[in-house]
Amino acid sequence: MKTKIILATRNQGKIREIQSMLDSNYFEIKSLSQYPEIPEVIEDGITFQENALKKATAIFEATGILSLADDSGLEVDYLDGKPGVFSSRFAGEEATDMDNNRKLLNLLNGVPRTKRTARFRCVMILKTPKQTYSFDGTCEGIIIHEPRGKNGFGYDPLFYVPEYQQTFAELDSQIKNQISHRGIALRKVIELLKNWEKNP
Ligand code: IMP
Repeated sequence: MKTKIILATRNQGKIREIQSMLDSNYFEIKSLSQYPEIPEVIEDGITFQENALKKATAIFEATGILSLADDSGLEVDYLDGKPGVFSSRFAGEEATDMDNNRKLLNLLNGVPRTKRTARFRCVMILKTPKQTYSFDGTCEGIIIHEPRGKNGFGYDPLFYVPEYQQTFAELDSQIKNQISHRGIALRKVIELLKNWEKNP
């Protein structure tokens, strides 16, 4: 029998990425998009950990299904780690990805390449009936001066990975999954789930 797991998000970009990494032969993957009656969890924590725990707990309590919550964002060194937990609403509550990217570029106007270092960070919380597990992943890069590429979501067009000489939005999605903060954290979750299946 497949293990049922719910992704505690309505973000289609994240759902797509996580779904493509979890083997559908073993997992029946649900997401919050299939549960419109569950209210939005307010992400008022000051760390990724706090927000992910809040989401995983709320969704586990509402569904009783193994819940996987991800909280992630971009930390720009020149901006002392901002936007961080505010990544999705950097330019305001209703901000689009384009609004957020524009705000980021404005704040970095005139800042040279050497000072544009940044990282994506992801914390994943898996809530099972008996335990709560926490995993994380980071990916280092540079914020370039103009958006490049059409794949992905969020800040992907501005996040340049020197090793591949491409932005996250230019990289093939499989490569992004290999090196991204979310991919790294998710592989740790998958490792645990393989053993959890044998001994829940
Ligand atoms: P969350 O839903 O609160 O975790 O918001 C995460 C936000 O961080 C997203 O809305 C994006 O703005 C940004 N973000 C997180 N991961 C990525 C990624 O892989 N690519 C681009 N932006 C990301």
